[in-house]
Amino acid sequence: MNGHFAAVGKRPTAQEYEHGIQVIDEDKSFNTSLNDYLTETQVAQAGFNYHLISVFGSQSTGKSTLLNHLFGTQFSVMSETERRQTTKGIWLSKNKKEGAMAENILVMDVEGTDGRERGEDQDFERKSALFALATSEVLIVNVWEHQVGLYQGANMGLLKTVFEVNLQLFLKDSQSQTRSLLFFVIRDHVGNTPLENLRNTLIQDLTKIWSSISKPQGLDNSKIEDYFDFAFAALPHKILQPEKFVTEVERLGSRFIAGHRSNDDQQYTGGIFLPEYHRRIPADGLSVYAEGVWDQIVNNKDLDLPTQQELLAQFRCDEISREVLVGFDTVIAPLEEQHADAARSGKLLVLPDLGATGSQAREKCVKAFEVQASRYHKGVYTMKRGELESKIDTRLKALYHAQLVAAHKSGVSAFSDAVTGAVKAGQKAGGSYEFAEIVDKQKSKHLEIFKTEAQSLFIPDVPWSNFKPQYRLFEKELDEVSAKLRKEEMRRLAIRSERWVKSRLNDAIGLEFNKLGSGRGGSGAPLDGEKPPSEKDLWDRVWAAFIGIVKDAESRFTDRAKSFEASPEEVEVGLWRLRRKSWVALREKIDEEVMESNILMKLRENFEDKFRYDDEGVPRIWRPTDDIEGIYTKARESTLGLVPLLSRFRLSETVAPPDLPAFIGHQPPGTEPEDEEDLVPIGGIDEEEGKSLEEETTILSESKRQDLVVRFKKMADGVYVEAKRSAIGGITQ
Ligand code: GDP
Ligand code: MG
Repeated sequence: MNGHFAAVGKRPTAQEYEHGIQVIDEDKSFNTSLNDYLTETQVAQAGFNYHLISVFGSQSTGKSTLLNHLFGTQFSVMSETERRQTTKGIWLSKNKKEGAMAENILVMDVEGTDGRERGEDQDFERKSALFALATSEVLIVNVWEHQVGLYQGANMGLLKTVFEVNLQLFLKDSQSQTRSLLFFVIRDHVGNTPLENLRNTLIQDLTKIWSSISKPQGLDNSKIEDYFDFAFAALPHKILQPEKFVTEVERLGSRFIAGHRSNDDQQYTGGIFLPEYHRRIPADGLSVYAEGVWDQIVNNKDLDLPTQQELLAQFRCDEISREVLVGFDTVIAPLEEQHADAARSGKLLVLPDLGATGSQAREKCVKAFEVQASRYHKGVYTMKRGELESKIDTRLKALYHAQLVAAHKSGVSAFSDAVTGAVKAGQKAGGSYEFAEIVDKQKSKHLEIFKTEAQSLFIPDVPWSNFKPQYRLFEKELDEVSAKLRKEEMRRLAIRSERWVKSRLNDAIGLEFNKLGSGRGGSGAPLDGEKPPSEKDLWDRVWAAFIGIVKDAESRFTDRAKSFEASPEEVEVGLWRLRRKSWVALREKIDEEVMESNILMKLRENFEDKFRYDDEGVPRIWRPTDDIEGIYTKARESTLGLVPLLSRFRLSETVAPPDLPAFIGHQPPGTEPEDEEDLVPIGGIDEEEGKSLEEETTILSESKRQDLVVRFKKMADGVYVEAKRSAIGGITQ
């Protein structure tokens, strides 16, 4: 159907439309400029508010003359001198008379036949009758008064044709309530016979014709009144009574207004235009419809009006759809472009007011479609409206999704940045910040931003525009990011805790080892009179101090971790790591203390304390009589006794290493690979490392011990020789 509705080329000017438009030319071709004419004359936008009238009658009975007088049209009329047919094919013109008549009356002047010009060819008469009936509300039948009652007259043949094609046409359209008005205008009414009589004669003739035509099956008993209403008017002789003719024509014109049938179903009031005559073809589709109808007629195809109306609806709905989409495109295409640009350059674009813009464009487009297209076939309209909506929605959907993806990504990174920033600021300000509070505040802030965006995209009654799932996804991702940030916060807390443990161990363990430097009652003895510590319980004291510090650190860690809502599993892993790291720190501290230079000095101090001071802590002044050798040997052996003690971390009570596995505990089930990454293996704990607890708690290896003993002895020997010398020389130290 689309093919032969091709757009016309050049648009004729108003001047060229002076005589109306030739809808069907003498070659039976349809003029596709009809729509231009309707547009030019402002009928196209009138919807259903227009009327279509056709005039029928024998050739040269003054039809064109009548129309020109009645409607101010300029159809060609036969000149008085040249008795030749003028009207060719079918012409159409808009009523040019202003005032009392209905708006937008379109008049079709149909070429008449009289057998002289067209010979016996009744083909055009039949075709034009079909065309007129398919489109027109009112058929004016122009007859001379003297022809009324002449049953065999030319008009009777025409009316027979009209009745036959009407039956053919509306048999297909049995649902339709469409009726037509046959308006008989009796010309050259002399006045002797009253109109009433002429009317009765005509009705008798019509009934006779009706009964003579062969009717399709099932319609044998149908009456002419089932399809037609009749109206009558008489006009005086135009040339003999020109003034009377004009006033009568004017009177006749006043009947071309809207009317309605009154309750008794027979009489109607107002004008001749009853709603049921209207063919219900919207004015902007009239040209396409007429073309389709004519195409069927001229090709002798079965004219099926409901099908034509459906085809018309499809064609026009598609056309209207394209038109309204242009407006939608103007608004939406630039936005699509912006999103595409952003995607190409990897930027996140959240367009302002997209929801309002989108839904307005959508509503405007659909409304515009509805206004025009809803006048067409309901089923087709509904389907095409659905197609249009889905076209619009496909594009809006893609746009909205791009928008929400951008809002999602930028929301997540803004949230992450805000939390990290607030933590940094808190750290700068002295570390007094509540991680959980920061997260909660930022989460609700960014959730709100996303929610506002998602809700702004909602279009009532459009289910796909409900973006709750996207909102949930966003919330889920914020939670994931929070979990990651909390893990980082846990890491920071772990590092702080480890540092704290290290620094405490430094002091406490250093202190314990320093005590080694004072032999019994020596210069390093406590001043407060407390019993000096026994060297034997060095490791008990180291372990106790260690346990105390770690317990302290653990409870601080737990408090802090709980404050930012770390899970019990996370806390457990953190504590486990802390204990391991603390032990490693302790081992490092002990290693530092037993480094050769350090431990040698401690042993020297310990030895000198024992050698140079008596039991009361008074420095000895060596005299030659003193048992220097005995004291030396005793002190040396006493200090040397420390070496095996120092070599192994043993608790005095059990004479065994501390229960390190019990202290550190089992690896919690919640440990993740990254939690283990930076852990140093511990003997006796990490069995697969092949190092036993025995080895883990061995402080000095056998070779180091021997080395230490040799060096210590050398050093002690030196001290002894010096003491001996001073005794001989009487020189005190
Ligand atoms: P059409 O072929 O039916 O359109 O007839 P026209 O309007 O072209 O007129 C044909 C001839 O009839 C013209 O010469 C007119 O002057 C003449 N004519 C027009 N109106 C009347 C009328 O009311 N009475 C008479 N007797 N002649 C008329
Ligand atoms: Mg004519």
